[in-house]
Amino acid sequence: MAELPTYRFAPAFEAPTGSAIRELFKYLSQPGMISFAGGYPPPALFDRQGLAEASERALREAPVDCLQYAATEGLPMLREQLQALMQRRGAEVALDELMVTTGSQQGLDLLIKVLLSPGDRVLVERPTYPATLQALRLAGVQPVGVATDGEGLATDALREQLAGERPGRFRLLYCVPNFANPTGACLPMTRRLELLALAAEHDFLIIEDDPYGALRFAGDPVPSLLALQHQVPGAAGRVVHLSSLSKIVAPGLRVGWMVAPVPVRQRCTIAKQTVDLCTSPWAQRIAAEYLAAGSLERHLPLLVAGYRAKAERMLAGLARLGRQFEMTAPQGGMFIWGRCSGGVQASALFTQAVAQNVLFVPGQAFFGDEPDPQALRLSFAAPDLAAIDDGLARLQRAFEAL
Ligand code: PMP
Repeated sequence: MAELPTYRFAPAFEAPTGSAIRELFKYLSQPGMISFAGGYPPPALFDRQGLAEASERALREAPVDCLQYAATEGLPMLREQLQALMQRRGAEVALDELMVTTGSQQGLDLLIKVLLSPGDRVLVERPTYPATLQALRLAGVQPVGVATDGEGLATDALREQLAGERPGRFRLLYCVPNFANPTGACLPMTRRLELLALAAEHDFLIIEDDPYGALRFAGDPVPSLLALQHQVPGAAGRVVHLSSLSKIVAPGLRVGWMVAPVPVRQRCTIAKQTVDLCTSPWAQRIAAEYLAAGSLERHLPLLVAGYRAKAERMLAGLARLGRQFEMTAPQGGMFIWGRCSGGVQASALFTQAVAQNVLFVPGQAFFGDEPDPQALRLSFAAPDLAAIDDGLARLQRAFEAL
């Protein structure tokens, strides 16, 4: 084969690092592996029948909607369904504020394009969702960590961090207030109001990333930052909300949405025109049919019950590990965040875990700065109850091997 020329890459892509979580995928092919690693919905809980019916209706009743290009903002039918979904979640949004995105991941990418320049600094929870860190870094933007605890973003710490900084120093704060990836934490009401007050005082926007909020299996719902912004003086217009059907219907649809103030939404639409013109209209119409038929409302309780059972099983099993492992019990979502005690490093435990045929994600991937070497993330979403028991027995052996 001929020798390849030397390619000249954009600076951010000269030596990029890929997703640390994707690196773990190679272990998944190890026979008999039990994975607590990915945030993957369990195949057994996909609403195959509801989606098959929605697909059939989409193509029969709206073949042109499915097969033709669509408006960049999304199919009107889907936008209306998502507007109604947001209303059920307690947020009144105008259609003009809502656009469909190709997963909520694209929403984040569009916002970075539209709102940030290289050298900007963005506040993120510490730890946070790795793809956000990656997207910021590839855009030349510096993520700046804010402390978190078992209840999510520590607004007191944020207030201290912001004291002395001039307003506007940080353009944005990115957070996952409901059942965060990776911590599983849910931000209490008082902290939500405090965060909105800080956004007003220090002149920054908040990206509220909410793919997991509907997966609450314990405790009472807390209103979104989007819904609360009008209660805090100066905070209205400071929240951009991202959500997705990935975790509640199917990631394969690649249907997410953004609710943003109109000037931001309009610019994101223009940015999206050069990315994919529109989210697959076929997938959008299937999603719209699925929502219009009330299938999500019917299926969600099943899903939530499934997650509750899995979370309880995993928490009970982890409690049996005793002092070796400390964690906070989540009230929803897919993740348990914990720390090995006694100076045990998550990377050392990982090596032993792979040898025992069980996977988790060492905490390192979730830090933009100095990682906590003892932290790790476990997901209870994908394995069934028997596999959770087996996987935890293997984890116990991995601890013992250390
Ligand atoms: N945000 C968070 C916090 C996530 O965990 C994920 C998926 N793991 C996403 C966004 C992206 O989801 P999607 O693009 O599938 O909607």
